[in-house]
Amino acid sequence: MRKMLQIFGIIFFTIFSVTNAQKADLERIEPPNWWVGMQNKNLQLLVHGDNIAQTTIKIESELVKITEIHKTENPNYLFIDIEILTDKSGSFDILFLSKNKKVAEYNYILNEKSEHKRGISSEDVIYLLMPDRFANGDPNNDNSDNMLEKADRNNLGGRHGGDIQGIIDNLDYLYKLGITGLWLNPVIENNNPEYSYHGYGTTDFYKIDERFGTNELYKTLSDKCHEKGLKLIIDVIYNHTGINHWWIKDLPSSDWLNNDENFRTTFRGNVISDPYSSVHDKEQFYSGWFVGTMPDLNQKNTFLATYLIQNTIWWVEFADIDAIRIDTYPYPDQDFGSDLVASVRKEYPDIFVFGETWLHETPQVAYYQENNNISGNYNSHLNSVTDFPLYYAIKAAFNEKEGWDTGLFRLADRLAEDFLYSNPYILITFLDNHDIDRFFTAVGKNINKFKMGFAFMITTRGIPVIYYGTEIAMEGQEHNHGLLRQDFPGGWQDDKTNAFKQTNLSKTQSEAYNFVSKLLNWRKTNNAVKNGKLLHFLPDNNVYVYFRYTDNEAVMVLLNNDDTQKKEIDCNKFKEILSDYKTGYDVINDKKIVSLETITIEPKSVLIIELLK
Ligand code: CA
Repeated sequence: MRKMLQIFGIIFFTIFSVTNAQKADLERIEPPNWWVGMQNKNLQLLVHGDNIAQTTIKIESELVKITEIHKTENPNYLFIDIEILTDKSGSFDILFLSKNKKVAEYNYILNEKSEHKRGISSEDVIYLLMPDRFANGDPNNDNSDNMLEKADRNNLGGRHGGDIQGIIDNLDYLYKLGITGLWLNPVIENNNPEYSYHGYGTTDFYKIDERFGTNELYKTLSDKCHEKGLKLIIDVIYNHTGINHWWIKDLPSSDWLNNDENFRTTFRGNVISDPYSSVHDKEQFYSGWFVGTMPDLNQKNTFLATYLIQNTIWWVEFADIDAIRIDTYPYPDQDFGSDLVASVRKEYPDIFVFGETWLHETPQVAYYQENNNISGNYNSHLNSVTDFPLYYAIKAAFNEKEGWDTGLFRLADRLAEDFLYSNPYILITFLDNHDIDRFFTAVGKNINKFKMGFAFMITTRGIPVIYYGTEIAMEGQEHNHGLLRQDFPGGWQDDKTNAFKQTNLSKTQSEAYNFVSKLLNWRKTNNAVKNGKLLHFLPDNNVYVYFRYTDNEAVMVLLNNDDTQKKEIDCNKFKEILSDYKTGYDVINDKKIVSLETITIEPKSVLIIELLK
């Protein structure tokens, strides 16, 4: 743990070529280093280089032994299986010989595995940000000769220059906002000619994009987060890669990728949990490309599967990661997905892994949470999943009149399906994200609806995620990704509005910020809302009332979805929980509630009441 950093500052990449032997050049070995103290003592190294398969491999060390060497149809690859025989850090040389002469060598370092991985829980509130669009902390890295796409802030789909330094510089802002964890859209290298800013088209699985910073700076971000008590979530993508990934030009084997750019996924994820679905439909879904610039990876290839699993563990250990978000979780091979999560959690029992499960109905999503009762023999091993069904309900609820299944009934009815989940209290909840309408836009720029939705999200069950800019009611629609992922005001030197410093915000932006930061900081202090059970009462006359409670604490939340009518709520019907309490404290309006007999709530508003005995 202590040595990891100092040693990892330098990746020893010692390569010698000797010209009089048969030509064989070593270009890379991945993972580039590893750790002792893992549960799994086996490691598989991907070796790439011209004609490298023609060399003989030698390791003379007591630390490890070679158990097998695999060749593929491509002479430029070798896969070396190694068993780690030691619990002490050290290094060994891998020698590549041709006609008994050394043509290349690589000093491979084994560091000590660290002990502490934190995980996330229902106590946390996560902030999701798109690094290219948050803050430009280092204008010098906006462009690089090594990278194809250059910065252009006038191009909505281009790179704008935001980076890891910009995030580090603004950690105080995030801490004061009241969040406890940070999820960055991927910062891995995306050396693609266009649309490279979003990070989902990997071109090197072991390298932070130069325009975001370096691997070491990412580790620094992690350390700084931990100093402030913030957790760091990594976003990993194993369904596909970027068209410019280095191995696309020289594939290890013909089955490394599925199909080609003309064979697209149907995006119909239902087929996976559908008991009647055909193999044909499953194949179309699994093995089709997402878009023409994102080749679909074949995780049934065991070398690729091992590569991806080791890559995840590598980042967790290297950067001291607290939680993992897996992109497009249903899309890769199902067995691979399970193996990946199980392998990571075996090494780090306290880590938290959740999958992006962009499906509309509760059973489809519940199917992917570990240890549920509905997925038969399939177990994802995921701690949690993204609660899209509740998201769709929140998006609609405050825009609708109450009907049998509309308005507030959308919320109550969705939550009524929670019996399908193995643990609904740790579902990942959200009002918006980088792919879907911003919430303020979704509620027609109505600040009252915005407040209701936000208050609901952070007081009902789940682990809330706040998309950057939602705290200042930023706008954006999903059909225009550029606008959905606008620059955060204040992140660039000449920005007139600076949300980090609260300067030049509009009245609405300030009102949103004050509401959000107040409630998030309150949430930090309230155990019932973080860890309590949920009890709700059916919506009645456009008002939805629910409680979060433990044995000796409770919070009452009231949502009045009526556009015009103030409501006097007779609280007698809540006596099964209210009988233990006499008064309360109105958290939003900062006032004491002297009697719990009746409570008055304004139209289109929310009340959060801490109950007092
Ligand atoms: Ca920059």
